[in-house]
Amino acid sequence: MLSKENLEKRIEDIRECGECRDIQIKKFSPIKDYDDFDKLCDDFKRCGCGKRPIDIVMAHILKIMIEEEIVPEKATLRRNSPVPLSKFYYSSLNPQFLNKNSLILLHHDFTKDVASRLMGEVSEVACVLKGSPQDTVGVFDRGSEVYHFEILEGDDTQINVMRTLINEKIILVKNQSKHHIEVAVTTEQKLVQLHNYLENNNVKKGVAIDAMCGLGAIGIYLLKYGFEKVIFNDINPEMVETLKENLKINGLEDSFEIFNESFEDLDVEDLDVEDLDLCVIDAFPSSDISEITKKAERIANNVLII
Ligand SMILES: [Zn+2]
Repeated sequence: MLSKENLEKRIEDIRECGECRDIQIKKFSPIKDYDDFDKLCDDFKRCGCGKRPIDIVMAHILKIMIEEEIVPEKATLRRNSPVPLSKFYYSSLNPQFLNKNSLILLHHDFTKDVASRLMGEVSEVACVLKGSPQDTVGVFDRGSEVYHFEILEGDDTQINVMRTLINEKIILVKNQSKHHIEVAVTTEQKLVQLHNYLENNNVKKGVAIDAMCGLGAIGIYLLKYGFEKVIFNDINPEMVETLKENLKINGLEDSFEIFNESFEDLDVEDLDVEDLDLCVIDAFPSSDISEITKKAERIANNVLII
């Protein structure tokens, strides 16, 4: 489990040292035209502190992908890079220098062989996933099955640490293969939006429902903000398991209830509350939420679609 000291150290570890030297590579030109293309290997441009500039890491990865023929000879960083996801994310700090074991890679044409080369040859790579960033991971709506990215190799656990306007960090742990790749920056923005909504609308800090809670960011925030009770609900049973872990990591032990239903099917009678002060809906982008919104407006005094 993540301890407070451990957390501060991990945050400190993201920062570059005084010796780290940045290198920018042209994103739109074939990576083969980069002057040092042939020199790309695990030691190339690595600082004494163990970090390398992100462009060098991504160029190294792309070189292997060209050799393995899963991207064209003329591959560019912009068009052909896999999606780089951080193992550890802190607020909006977007590190330009990467630590060893800090990257989860996602690409639809990855194979077992490519994965094992990337894991073996590029120290920054901690996990290789096969899939497309356009795919919706998890359960899209009431009618769909659970979908995962395929783990080809490595550990897909990811830790997101978010700063908030209530001066408390919120930690969300997830398995990247099982979760929608909403970036933590987006989650952080949603929490700011939620905060402003609460402040501007004078919402009573009574009972709230996080209708499609996912990892639990919204509901955890509401509890930290001072709500008496939060009802978490998600259609995906895997989310519910992750949510329980996240509640624990954030030091929350009571004042909540968890349901594992589609929001449409959630029986308000079961909630055992007199008055629902707030319902927050955080749906997958592009999903149709008209029915959900109607229900939310029927059961809660305030509805925020985020
Ligand atoms: Zn350094």
